[in-house]
Amino acid sequence: MQKKCLVRDKTKYIVVTGGVISGLGKGIFTASLGRLLQAKGLKVVPIKIDPYINADAGTMNPVEHGEVFVLDDGGEVDMDLGNYERFMNLNLTSRSNITTGKIYKKVIDKEREGVYLGKTVQLIPHITDELKDWFKDVARRNKAEIELIEVGGTVGDIENLIFLEALRQLSMEADVIFVHCTLIPILQVVGEQKTKPTQQSVQKLREIGIQPDFVFLRCQVPIQDKIISKIALFTGVCEDNIIRGQDLDNIYKLPAFLEEQNVHKKVMELFDIDDRSTNGLEEWKKMLSRMKSKKEINVAMTGKYMALHDSYVSIEQSLKHAAGMLGCTVKIKWVETTDIEKGKVKAGEALKGIDGVIVPGGFGSRGTEGKIECVRYARENNIPFLGLCYGFQLASIEYARNVCGLAKANSTEIDKNTPHPVIDILPSQKNVYKKGGTMRLGGQDVLIKKGSAAEKLYGFRKVRERFRHRYEFNPEYITRLENKGLVFSGHDSTGEIMQILELPGHKFFMASQFHPEFTSRVLKPNPLFYGFIKSALGK
Ligand code: GLN
Repeated sequence: MQKKCLVRDKTKYIVVTGGVISGLGKGIFTASLGRLLQAKGLKVVPIKIDPYINADAGTMNPVEHGEVFVLDDGGEVDMDLGNYERFMNLNLTSRSNITTGKIYKKVIDKEREGVYLGKTVQLIPHITDELKDWFKDVARRNKAEIELIEVGGTVGDIENLIFLEALRQLSMEADVIFVHCTLIPILQVVGEQKTKPTQQSVQKLREIGIQPDFVFLRCQVPIQDKIISKIALFTGVCEDNIIRGQDLDNIYKLPAFLEEQNVHKKVMELFDIDDRSTNGLEEWKKMLSRMKSKKEINVAMTGKYMALHDSYVSIEQSLKHAAGMLGCTVKIKWVETTDIEKGKVKAGEALKGIDGVIVPGGFGSRGTEGKIECVRYARENNIPFLGLCYGFQLASIEYARNVCGLAKANSTEIDKNTPHPVIDILPSQKNVYKKGGTMRLGGQDVLIKKGSAAEKLYGFRKVRERFRHRYEFNPEYITRLENKGLVFSGHDSTGEIMQILELPGHKFFMASQFHPEFTSRVLKPNPLFYGFIKSALGK
């Protein structure tokens, strides 16, 4: 099945496209395939292509588009990058997320600099060449043997055509495997699995000159053999290369499910790579069996983006990693804090029977009073509490108001005229008016106080975590809160920005200005989540 051509790039590429509908789980598939290939000793790097014109995901509404994931280099990227990092235990750079905005900007900037002087700058070859250079450059910088490229959107969209064209061209210059993900819908009345959407979607791909090497079929239930044969016939993909993808009760099962189908072997065979099969998924599988535990704890997630749970996907996954490590499962109760704020429900009612409370990140004032009520309830009732970013800021406000007697304490983000601006704009943010990529973003060192709960959890006095904020704890209030028992147990290297708080004597009351959910990995849960779940379990 080797494809022949003249000049060959050393890196091998696996391109993952999607058809029929969006939201098929291409990202999970790409991440799982990457994890499996790593387990077989291959060095991989992923790229996600997002065909929207925004330069990055930073300015996009999480309820429409899901969470904005933050990379160590400060890149605000699509949430699929979070899946890649979690599954593959990688620290990616912003170069692993290409958007239409980024690539066009690059070419337009070059045109203005006179790089193409005299030329008419066109989609082909200028955008396509720039894309191919980008793909190769990422592989080179990461010394990757295999680069996985996931194309966002659905084949047939106008938006991703130019990316598919660049990838078609890439397949003339390098070894490229195309995997097309589609859906097998089931007609409920007769329970029949239907192949037509897949047939037509593969035809669409062929129209633009791409013949898939593999088809990955998503379906609610196991796919029937006769369906596989039929799809093979209509798509020109041999039966062996049709990968089954029925719904799994845990996304982390997919790498092992692909392994059972020998996908890694088929990929290596096509690429002519010697089979270096090792048992690299052993630890992973142990984790999977721990994740099956019957012991369940209830965690409340309090927020205002409840309409789309994907807004909090990294937190959900971090809870899962920590729970897996501790041999329990987490059931999340989504608590809409706007309702508490409006008095529709009381915090105590919403949090009844809950083993732990999370107040996640957020922006603006809607729902904040409700969140503050939830912090109060957790603090006063000795319920494990974890505050993340905005959650850290709101926990400080709650403490200032209800313990330190500063009744009107607030953040200037919520009330510009508060007499007690316990949370205030970062000095570095004062004259920033542009919105994209301008917050305090990305990985920063956190220096941890000796003897604190944070030190016990992390086991280090200096750690690196990821940030995304404009406001901070106002240093003028540190002593007032500390005199009443709160401990700021983590700060930045200048000692000015407070980054972790904890309340000694409480079962577990911790909050961080950073987002620990961005550094949690399947086999390496973030220590704050680990501590939180452990305490929610009553350990
Ligand atoms: N709105 C707060 C700030 O800008 C918190 C941000 C967040 O939770 N990511 O500082």
